[in-house]
Amino acid sequence: MPLKLFNTLSRKIEEFQPIRPPKVGFYACGPTVYDRAHIGNLRAYIFEDILRRTLIHNGCQVKLVMNITDVGHLTSDADEGEDKLEKGAKRENSSVFEIAEKYTQLFKQDLKALNIAEPDVWLKATDHIPEQIELIKKLEAKGFTYKTSDGIYYDTSKFPHYGDLAKLNVKGQKEGARVEVNQEKRNPTDFALWKFSPQGQKRQMEWESPWGVGFPGWHIECSAMSMKALGESFDIHTGGVDHIPVHHTNEIAQSEGATGRRFVKYWLHNEFLLVDSGKMAKSAGNFFTLDDLQEKGFSPLNYRYFVLGAHYRSKLNFTLEGLKASQNAHEELVNRLANMPSEAKIGCADFENNFFEAINNDLNTPQGLAVMWEMLKSDNPDSAKKASLLKMDEILGLGLAKVNPIKIPKEIKELVEKREVARKNKDFKLSDEIRNRIVEKGFQVEDTEGGPLVRVR
Ligand code: AMP
Ligand code: ZN
Repeated sequence: MPLKLFNTLSRKIEEFQPIRPPKVGFYACGPTVYDRAHIGNLRAYIFEDILRRTLIHNGCQVKLVMNITDVGHLTSDADEGEDKLEKGAKRENSSVFEIAEKYTQLFKQDLKALNIAEPDVWLKATDHIPEQIELIKKLEAKGFTYKTSDGIYYDTSKFPHYGDLAKLNVKGQKEGARVEVNQEKRNPTDFALWKFSPQGQKRQMEWESPWGVGFPGWHIECSAMSMKALGESFDIHTGGVDHIPVHHTNEIAQSEGATGRRFVKYWLHNEFLLVDSGKMAKSAGNFFTLDDLQEKGFSPLNYRYFVLGAHYRSKLNFTLEGLKASQNAHEELVNRLANMPSEAKIGCADFENNFFEAINNDLNTPQGLAVMWEMLKSDNPDSAKKASLLKMDEILGLGLAKVNPIKIPKEIKELVEKREVARKNKDFKLSDEIRNRIVEKGFQVEDTEGGPLVRVR
């Protein structure tokens, strides 16, 4: 069963073939740590986690690298505006370093709560300033750069494949460009590699460089750090769809401009989480964090279930009603499992095959969940269902391996069985009586499509 993934670069579903099998180099664009991650951001990491688990299931030895952006990401992707970290520091009246540390820790807590495995390697942009300067020097030596009054820029007209990832109409952009904010840029798509600290102003984060005191542009960190950790060419690079036209397009221009080699073989992007059909974004002020959801009575894994109910390449509209439905489904799943005996050695092979086929088909988690529920409704023994559920959860990560079976006393089991007989005989008076006795003894019985489900009250 080959693994097939949609590659943004070719716009096609391709069979996944690592460059150096079974090793897989995987770089996931990480968070900008100036504020709490919102649940839209977290969708990107749930997607990356499903991909990582799927690769491992397919026998790959994955090295997952994630960056922490703690400098250089300006409030506008077009190299203008304030540094997001400096802005966060002002807001909280603390240093940029404290802000970065605080939100990095909170981000790691969010990952843990969502059952997302930490990457094998974390890389912080501020720990890699020399590597970024080296890369800019290489680009300079190859004639890709020019200087303006506020920084060193990449001349995108010098890179013939500029914009391929996003299928950008670069020529059209040039002709259609209105008054540019930065009149010194040669082309509208040119971007900063190094920005000078503003005259007469001391930034909290700034470094010496061959071009003057300043700080790196946002995109250069990902090129420098990913190639350092994974080599000049590696297998997978992920991020949200907003990264396609600017950030990832510029990463390709920088990396391939410097090395002359293909940078990344497979580019994968998750679609957005929307609120009221608009993008959930910090700047729009319409966002929820995991804490907000928890205050409303939802667990982080309820949210994970919600996200998996949509394909990663589909937009997903967030509503509390939708999340409630996911919570009910997730809780039922957990209860069903808690009611199952020990797992059998052999699971429900057909359902497992269908499940992994769906996942290997470009990570079709909604289809995978559908197969899982079909299996639960089937008449396979519970012990086999449990074995399969646990295998499926190695991909889904819904915390099923940690579910403890509930201890139902023999007496209760017998009552449940008697009640089933009464129900089958349509003796509803008796079945209600038995239900009341079960409740009096501190248990609860619920009738589901897959049979009676017992819970502790
Ligand atoms: P940032 O911390 O802003 O660099 O974003 C972290 C990740 O979240 C990036 O991969 C973004 O593309 C992604 N992202 C941002 N907003 C959303 C959203 N509403 N839905 C899904 N992914 C998002
Ligand atoms: Zn990045």
